[in-house]
Amino acid sequence: IPVEAFDLVIFGGTGDLARRKILPGLYRRFRDGQIPDDARIVGAARSDMSAEAYRAQVADALNEVLPASKRDAESVEAFLARLDYVGIDATGTHGWPDLSQKMRAGVVQAFYFSVAPALFGDLAKRLHKHKIAGPEARIVVEKPFGHDLASARDLNAMLARHFDEQQIYRIDHYLGKETVQNLMAVRFGNLLFEPLWRNQYIDHVQITVAETVGVGGRGAYYDKSGAMRDMVQNHLMQLLCLIAMEPPAKFDPDAVRDEKLKVIRALDPVEPGDVVRGQYRAGADTPSYRDDAENPASRTESFIAMKLHVSNWRWNGTPFYLRTGKRMKARVSEIVVRFKEPPHSIFEEDTGQSANELTIRLQPNEGMDLTVTIKEPGPGGMRLIDVPLDMTFAEALGEEAADVPDAYERLIMDVIRGNQTLFMRGDEVEAAWAWTDPVIAAWDAREEKPISYEAGSTGPEEALILMHRDGRRWREIG
Ligand code: NAD
Repeated sequence: IPVEAFDLVIFGGTGDLARRKILPGLYRRFRDGQIPDDARIVGAARSDMSAEAYRAQVADALNEVLPASKRDAESVEAFLARLDYVGIDATGTHGWPDLSQKMRAGVVQAFYFSVAPALFGDLAKRLHKHKIAGPEARIVVEKPFGHDLASARDLNAMLARHFDEQQIYRIDHYLGKETVQNLMAVRFGNLLFEPLWRNQYIDHVQITVAETVGVGGRGAYYDKSGAMRDMVQNHLMQLLCLIAMEPPAKFDPDAVRDEKLKVIRALDPVEPGDVVRGQYRAGADTPSYRDDAENPASRTESFIAMKLHVSNWRWNGTPFYLRTGKRMKARVSEIVVRFKEPPHSIFEEDTGQSANELTIRLQPNEGMDLTVTIKEPGPGGMRLIDVPLDMTFAEALGEEAADVPDAYERLIMDVIRGNQTLFMRGDEVEAAWAWTDPVIAAWDAREEKPISYEAGSTGPEEALILMHRDGRRWREIG
């Protein structure tokens, strides 16, 4: 279904994120017929250039990022015709009158802040001062949203000076993944899961986001952040919320976000013994974290594993294990919900029966499966085996599903539609920092050094022990 006509301004329209994600995503939506002909996309960035030159840059980006089968000359041409450009200084006056002139009345206005967070306040202020953003305009802000609670509060206050909460779209692209939304459909659209979705029947939940890349080119930036701030506070926390939240009364933005907020507020402080921090060593042909970060004494973690408790009626006693790291064995993002074993086995021998597991894969092969125990076919007696019930879209839905929109394109379309359900609310972000801050402060106070781990591994051995000591184990990576 096409969205309404819009003017979308991308501040940072020449940057890496715009080139790799935002513009290719918009093109795909355009090619699919979701973006109407009278929509306009205005790149706004520091360098001065003509709209023609910008279109040529974007054409290059599309060629580079999208496989040939996902683009065609005719629709690329038509898409580029929607683009305009203005050279602008977020911190000065240059370009603002020009931008003001380009905006049309009577269409949806959206402003994507794809620039360094230090510029968010400047942009908000100038959009207001130059009367560019109307009362219905929407702004989209990228991560990181703050560095800690104090800075997140400042950022929220700064944006709130010029925009209402209903106008602010804080992006966490994990929430734009098809599977993440499907998780809500599975939980709240079926009778089957929800009655079992609690401490009585779920043994534990594990969430893994493993990357094979190191911190490479952005080492200096990453070194001030670390896995806790860069991944846990936002992405892993959001995934945890979707698993742990109570059923909202409606699938509406505030109903969903109210429930997520309650989860964050129910998190216990983390015990020092429940956290493992790691830092990758040099591999055969890969540099060490410290080399990447150009900081030989760095105490920043590139890996973290932790055990969390959500202290409420539903989850008391069911731990959530989280882990994320760079330079790991494989690129995997998945959530495993492990149910308890049946309370009593009626089968005499040890037949191989085990607990059900629901796996929600964000990548690779986005999809879900549920292991169930069945009888091994054949005359061999009552032998049990576990088989996965595959809920992968590509198989269930055929061709159509193989081409599911990427997280960014879905989220940008939600901005145009004015749907905030998959965006973080200010209080959610602050609550997540309020939980994160003391954990980091405790490491700093102890001057804790991360444990070094081998590049291409599953992280430090201590992370395995974190689960072994509870009689559990992590799902194999890769
Ligand atoms: P980038 O450095 O590649 O691009 C920055 C953009 O900002 C450029 O277009 C530049 O012209 C513009 N800019 C800089 N100073 C300006 C000023 N004073 N006035 C106007 N424009 C100015 O950055 P990026 O990697 O595209 O990241 C943009 C934002 O997205 C950052 O907040 C980053 O944290 C976030 N982000 C990026 C990625 C990614 O994969 N690149 C992923 C997640 C979040």
